[in-house]
Amino acid sequence: MHHPLRLRLDRAALAANWRWLAATAGTACGAAVKADGYGTGGSAAVAVLAEAGCRDFLVSTWDEARRLGPLPTGASLSVLHGVGPDDVADALASSARPVLNSVEQVARWRAAAPDRPCEVMVDSGMNRLGLRPEEVGVLDGLAIDTLMSHLACADQDHALNAGQLARFREVKAVVSAKRYSLANSAGICLGRDYSFDLVRPGLALYGGIPRAEAEGKIAQVAYPEAQVVQRRIANAGESVGYGATFVATRDTELAILNIGYADGYLRCFAGHGGGSVGGARLPLVGRVSMDLVALDCGAAPGLREGDWVALDYDLPVAAAATGLSQYELLTGLGDRFERVWG
Ligand SMILES: *Cc1c(COP(=O)(O)O)cnc(C)c1O
Repeated sequence: MHHPLRLRLDRAALAANWRWLAATAGTACGAAVKADGYGTGGSAAVAVLAEAGCRDFLVSTWDEARRLGPLPTGASLSVLHGVGPDDVADALASSARPVLNSVEQVARWRAAAPDRPCEVMVDSGMNRLGLRPEEVGVLDGLAIDTLMSHLACADQDHALNAGQLARFREVKAVVSAKRYSLANSAGICLGRDYSFDLVRPGLALYGGIPRAEAEGKIAQVAYPEAQVVQRRIANAGESVGYGATFVATRDTELAILNIGYADGYLRCFAGHGGGSVGGARLPLVGRVSMDLVALDCGAAPGLREGDWVALDYDLPVAAAATGLSQYELLTGLGDRFERVWG
């Protein structure tokens, strides 16, 4: 089946981003591959990262673990949401390890699989998932592979960073585990005090810039491209698209592209978005439709039906323009994209 929409993915950039993060952290470097590898395609991302040397992968749910399929040899997988009341059978059938997040989950895992290794999340100040530090007594005797915590504000210079680090060190002193892990992408940029035995980047692997320290070090991985469905002219005075928000002040050449908000190219790109072809820049005009956008293609006289246009998708630039986060820009890319690794 031909796909009129594709996401070009740069294998070398993904591997190089992982290597930079691993070298910066100076410790073992895993990879968050939840949300289908942040939209890049989960199992393909795992294969590229495993070849680069990554061994520790993280997803959110057991269904995500299943959908990754068989892992490369030597790789391990952790399920961040742990073992809820409806997860026991799936967890027992999987080779992935649960990340136990609560007193209830610890009790449930002890009853279901007392001898199988697990991970534990301790909440050091985010108040999202994890045991409170005063609850860690329930972990006595548990076979913990990695004890982890997660930073709430690592992408900012915020007092909570040092506070969470101190709390995590206190927990580490009283809970024994094979490994300890605190940092996400932004946490790696905070310095090696945050590295411990394993870091867990997601965003920066896929080209997101979590903090200024990563600028110039992290390369773009995902490049959306859409095919021209139709080339047309809007005459001076005519409007383009829903709501007639764009009115042509001169005869305007338009390329109508096969991409829209149903693909994750959201309406907030109106007034900001665009694409390019052969060095010519084509600004978005009018609103984003569900499956279509219109670009002013006056700068590309040769562009015609069936040609491919690369959408502007530099993550920090697009995030600043649209108000979406770099995470949303990646994970929103839908399943109508053909994912093409090069
Ligand atoms: C998603 C996630 C990560 C990766 O975070 P990034 O900010 O994308 O680097 C690491 N650890 C946990 C617990 C997560 O949920």
